Amino acid sequence: MKLVVQVRLLPTAEQAAALEATLRACNDTANFASVTAFTTGDRREYALRKHTYREVKARGLGAQAAQHVIKKVADAYTTLKAGIRAGNLGPKGSARRARAESKPVTFRADAAQPFDDRCLSWDHTARTVSIWTTTGRVKNVAFVGSLDQLKMLAVCRKGESDLVCRDGMWFLYATCEIPDVPVTEPDGFIGVDLGIANIATTSDGTRHCGKGLNAVRHRNRELRRRLQAKATKSAKRLLKKRRRTEARFAADTNHTIAKQIVTEAERTGRGIALEDLGGIRDRVRLRKPQRVTLHSWSFHQLGSFIAYKAARHGVAVIHVDPAYTSQTCSACGHVDKANRPSQATFSCTSCGFAEHADVNAARNIASRGVAGWAVSHAANDAA
Ligand SMILES: [Zn+2]
Repeated sequence: MKLVVQVRLLPTAEQAAALEATLRACNDTANFASVTAFTTGDRREYALRKHTYREVKARGLGAQAAQHVIKKVADAYTTLKAGIRAGNLGPKGSARRARAESKPVTFRADAAQPFDDRCLSWDHTARTVSIWTTTGRVKNVAFVGSLDQLKMLAVCRKGESDLVCRDGMWFLYATCEIPDVPVTEPDGFIGVDLGIANIATTSDGTRHCGKGLNAVRHRNRELRRRLQAKATKSAKRLLKKRRRTEARFAADTNHTIAKQIVTEAERTGRGIALEDLGGIRDRVRLRKPQRVTLHSWSFHQLGSFIAYKAARHGVAVIHVDPAYTSQTCSACGHVDKANRPSQATFSCTSCGFAEHADVNAARNIASRGVAGWAVSHAANDAA
């Protein structure tokens, strides 16, 4: 399994200046190569290298960096093409699509740049990197990260890392290859219900509430409303920064929740049953004001954090159909809209069973997990 570990660099002022100059040189050159790719129509790496390699190197990039810049440009065109084909820029003839196709791809002065092992080396004991820059090799750049991440980095890092500058902070995104852990045969399942007020509720009754996150989102929405009216450049910049802070906060929250759920599953020898999120946008149980706060990507992110943390610990994960989990009684199976007298409560009109609505839904997801696992494994045994 591949995953990306992010560490923050703590360069001195002098080191930061060298990094900044390097990113700028790489991206200036990428813009030059991009124009060539656009005018010649040769957008594949090999063809583009023939056209541009000499000039790119002459601009002060070493052989390695030159190749990476050219590959970055070729990759950007591939991504653009795939995006257009997927309809991300609207249908054929749309203004957005025409605009994107009418000019070369451009790179910001601080766009991310990949570094391979020849341009970047890691010292895990000293927690420093040595990195190629346009002004020579910069040594002993300190980095920090969580203990978990540093451990994984030291053992599993493989391939390229991206150098990124964001809001004045420096980061390296390093690719790690994690060896597969065999999945333990689960003894039951923890069901996880995803929601707004409670981001995740488990069938054990644990509610991971999104109070902090919802407060941040609410504040940002208010701010957005006021700033959008202004539409000045500084207002736009502030909005962008806020959005990133919110995304980081959501990711931190999701990591913490995922970790707690996986740890609990591992401790009790169970698997984890998650809702299949295919139709989450269409879910009817969300009322209008909630739809504004609903970020489906955040649910997908939590799902993927759980999946990869579970995979690392050999914990089984199964995705189940979430239809009617909120209206079904987890005690007797009776399905009825009237089982939900309010958003928060579940009360069965048939057997009288009462429980917090999210906990009841999570229990249904858990039993669907048990059933689904039995079916898929019966199929495996037959095959
Ligand atoms: Zn019932």
